[in-house]
Amino acid sequence: MKNDEGLDFALSRKTGRMIDIRMVERGLACECVCPNCGTELQARKGRKNRHHFAHHVAGRARPTCDGGRESALHRAARQILAGWQWVELPALLVHEAGRQGALPGRILSVRRSELPDERRARSPWSNLRVRPDVVLHCANEQIWCEVKVAHAVDDAKRNRLQGHRVSTLEFDLSRMYRSGGWNLTTLELALRTDMSIRQWVFHVGEAQLRQRLQEEMREAEALRRKPLTESQLRVRTAADAQREIAAEEGDVEVVEMVFHPAMGLIPKDPARRHAVLSGAYPEPKVFHLTHAIAFLRHHPHGDRSCLVTFGSSGPRSRTGEYDAALSEFAGAAGLHCVYFGIAESRLLRGEDCYEHLDQFLTDLQAREGALQSCPAMPPRNSQW
Ligand SMILES: [Zn+2]
Repeated sequence: MKNDEGLDFALSRKTGRMIDIRMVERGLACECVCPNCGTELQARKGRKNRHHFAHHVAGRARPTCDGGRESALHRAARQILAGWQWVELPALLVHEAGRQGALPGRILSVRRSELPDERRARSPWSNLRVRPDVVLHCANEQIWCEVKVAHAVDDAKRNRLQGHRVSTLEFDLSRMYRSGGWNLTTLELALRTDMSIRQWVFHVGEAQLRQRLQEEMREAEALRRKPLTESQLRVRTAADAQREIAAEEGDVEVVEMVFHPAMGLIPKDPARRHAVLSGAYPEPKVFHLTHAIAFLRHHPHGDRSCLVTFGSSGPRSRTGEYDAALSEFAGAAGLHCVYFGIAESRLLRGEDCYEHLDQFLTDLQAREGALQSCPAMPPRNSQW
C-alpha cells in the first residue's frame, strides 16, 4: 500500500498517549483521535492492506489530514524519548584549522524528562523563544532533543538553541517517515540503536575543542618556523623528538585515526586501538577459558554498560564460539548487545549488566575447569 494512506500512530482518548495499530480494536472501537487535527480515527485492520489508522469523516474513511502522518510519528518519537532512563550521547567530531579532533561519547542516566510542547501555558517554557521537543534532566546537566521528521532544525532555531548553551541532539526520522509502516517497538529500536540518525545540533564542549585545535595548529606552526633560525643539527633533533612524543601520545597527525560514534577518534590500527581502549577503560576482570581469555570491563562513562573482549589464547582459540554464546546469554538476560567495531569485543548494556556478565563468565570458567579434569578433553593450553 502507499505510505500516504493512513497513520501508523494515533492519540488514545482513554490514556492521552500515543499508541500503534497493534494495540487497538478495529474500527471506531479504537477510541483514538488524530494528534494533528483532532479528528476521530478508525483502525483499519483488514486482510488486504497494511493496517493503519484512517480519519473518520462524515461516516467515511479518509486517509489523513495534511501533516497528520508527520505529526503522529513526531509525537510518538517524543513520547519514546521522554520515557528513556539512560541516553547514549554520540562522540563529537570537529574539523578546525586543518585538523580534526573529537570528544568521546558518553552514557548518561536520565532522572526525569519533560515535553515542553505539552506543558500548559505559564510553564517555564512559555517565556522562552525556543522550545526543545524533549528535555532530559540528568544529574549535572540537561540534554535537549529535537526530532526531525519533515523539517530539520533550521538555522534560526539552531542559533536560538546555541544561545541557551544546552547540548542538543537531533534524531533524524526523515528517511523512516518516507518508508512508513512503523509501530512503537520498531520506532523505539531505531531511536535506541541506529547511531546514524543521531547527531549533535549543539555540544557544550565544541567551542573549547575548536580552540584547542587552533592552539595546537599555532604551536605546530611556530615549531615549523623555528628551525629556520637555528642550526641544522638542532632542527633535526627537535623534529625527531617531536615525532617520537607524538607517536607515543597517539597524535592524530602521526597515527591514522578513524571516527567511532561512541569513542570519537580511535587509531585505525587494531593494536593501537586496543591500547587506547585499555587506557580508557578501567582494569578488566580476567577469565581463563579453555579456548580463549575473556576480559570484562565497566564502561568508563556509565554504570549500566560493560565491554567484553575475547582474546586469543593460542592456536586452539575459539573466540567466535564464545562470542556466539555471549550473544545468546545477553538475549536471555535482557541485555542490549552492540558490536563495537573491534574484533571480538562487544558493548553490553542493561540492568545489573556487570553482575550478569560476571556470573556468566564465572560459570563458564568453572564449567570448563570441571571438564578439564576429564581425561577425554584436550589438555589445557600450556601458556596459562
Ligand atoms: Zn488529522
